[in-house]
Amino acid sequence: MNTELIRADFPILSRTVYGKPLIYLDNAATTQKPLCVLDAMRNEYLNVNANVHRGVHWLSQQATELHEGARETVRRFINARSTTEIVFTRGTTEGLNLIASCFSEACMQKGDEVVISTVEHHSNIVPWQLQAARKGIVLRVIPMDDDGTLDLEAFRRMLSQKTKIVSISHVSNVLGTVNPVEDIIRIAHQYDIPVVVDGAQSAPHFKVDMQALDCDFFVFSGHKIYGPTGIGVLYGKEAWLDRLPPYQGGGEMIEHVSFEKSTFERPPLKFEAGTPDYIATTGLAKALDYVSSVGLDAIQKHEEDLTRYTISQLLQIDGMRVFGIPADADLTTLRHDAVISFQLRDIHPMDMGTLLDRLGIAIRTGHHCAQPLMDRLGVLGTSRASFALYNTHEEVDALVAGVKRVATMF
Ligand code: PLP
Repeated sequence: MNTELIRADFPILSRTVYGKPLIYLDNAATTQKPLCVLDAMRNEYLNVNANVHRGVHWLSQQATELHEGARETVRRFINARSTTEIVFTRGTTEGLNLIASCFSEACMQKGDEVVISTVEHHSNIVPWQLQAARKGIVLRVIPMDDDGTLDLEAFRRMLSQKTKIVSISHVSNVLGTVNPVEDIIRIAHQYDIPVVVDGAQSAPHFKVDMQALDCDFFVFSGHKIYGPTGIGVLYGKEAWLDRLPPYQGGGEMIEHVSFEKSTFERPPLKFEAGTPDYIATTGLAKALDYVSSVGLDAIQKHEEDLTRYTISQLLQIDGMRVFGIPADADLTTLRHDAVISFQLRDIHPMDMGTLLDRLGIAIRTGHHCAQPLMDRLGVLGTSRASFALYNTHEEVDALVAGVKRVATMF
């Protein structure tokens, strides 16, 4: 993988901040966009812009072709069986809200349970809590050990007649740990319980294959995979999407409307009320093509190298704690996604982030929208560096030097 060539596709990476070269290590929050994505979106606005579906005129048909072509690109990218299973959303959060709302309406009664885990992002906690308040459903939480490993035995013991769905993140956005979703899906399916996978932090970093994974739902965000903001994907097995009620009502999702009664389109349109963000779907498809052209295996290897290197360098600093790593981990083979949370002595993450920022290094600090996980770790927040395909070993060296410099200030 030629990182130098790749970086040329992302003009923002060559800018400076405070007179220093930008080192962008906040990719778990959002990624930068390659020119091809921006060009595709600009081109559509300039040359093809028209509302999609149902238009008889040429522009509308062209725009519809791009929009539905994007759906096919997504299908191919995650190896879904059919484009019927690909619903466009505004992002992971909307996808999870849609599932929580529609699933609990159709399939859950008061007292029924949803199983989530300790490492979930707020987006996979709060939508279920809203349904808990509305319908009286109950949240059960898979515990984790101090290294961030989920307790599968506890998970197994949690399952009962009352368990109606499991919703779990593929990769923790704080710890970078890859959760055993294959095992969770296999165990849940033994009891005929469907599983939602939050792929916000997995789809950008390694191959996800819906048919191999066999999850029932999978969600991810465009902006975390080099695509535009405001667009995301909800994959759902066709049988489930057929069974769930619509999420919102309005144009696009209807088949026929009268004042007495309305009937709805089949999935995926049933879940896409209103004019879709068809410019963003074009941008997303371009981003996925870009990722595919670099190759997810190459991206995964590159990011794994960077992650292992960073962890080994950080751990050499006195008083450093890196979260989500077993004490006896072999760093040369550690399976860890491109997210590293750390804490240096008692230096507040806000101080760490602010001082690194002055060196041109963008990391994220705080609770990372995972406050229950912070409670479990016994911290208020962490400092988090996260990588994308364009990051380099030199940038890691700058980060480590920056952290060492901060250490001397306290
Ligand atoms: N789930 C995980 C694991 C995440 O990391 C994030 C964002 O950081 C989300 C959900 C929410 O994604 P979005 O804000 O794009 O909806």
